[in-house]
Amino acid sequence: MAKTIFERIIDREVPADIVYEDDHILAFRDLSPQAPVHILLIPKKHHARHGTVPSEDHPIFAHLLAAAQRVARQCHLEETGYRLVINHGPDGGETVPHLHLHLLGGRPLSWPPG
Ligand code: AMP
Repeated sequence: MAKTIFERIIDREVPADIVYEDDHILAFRDLSPQAPVHILLIPKKHHARHGTVPSEDHPIFAHLLAAAQRVARQCHLEETGYRLVINHGPDGGETVPHLHLHLLGGRPLSWPPG
């Protein structure tokens, strides 16, 4: 199967503005930012989306949230606040079939989402 754009970023075939990396996670700035800070955190191991991650790989959810906390601190968002979002499937607005967590901050975010 063809690589997704995010797998190509992991493999350094496509450039990205990488802000954090560890053994499990890569985080980089979204190409089309929806807030002053808009960072995507992705597992290096490919999973299409949140709802299809098998139970043996559930530790990746903890890795993603822990990395998001580190990156939010790195971006000085602790005081002002931020939002974490995962879009699953058509109704969720998913456009890239590689699990990713959006970290958004730097402005007040409205609720409910559109
Ligand atoms: P989603 O709609 O939840 O699937 O989010 C996919 C996100 O990936 C969108 O916010 C896009 O702007 C972003 N995106 C797509 N291609 C790239 C890229 N090459 N580098 C950074 N972000 C990207």
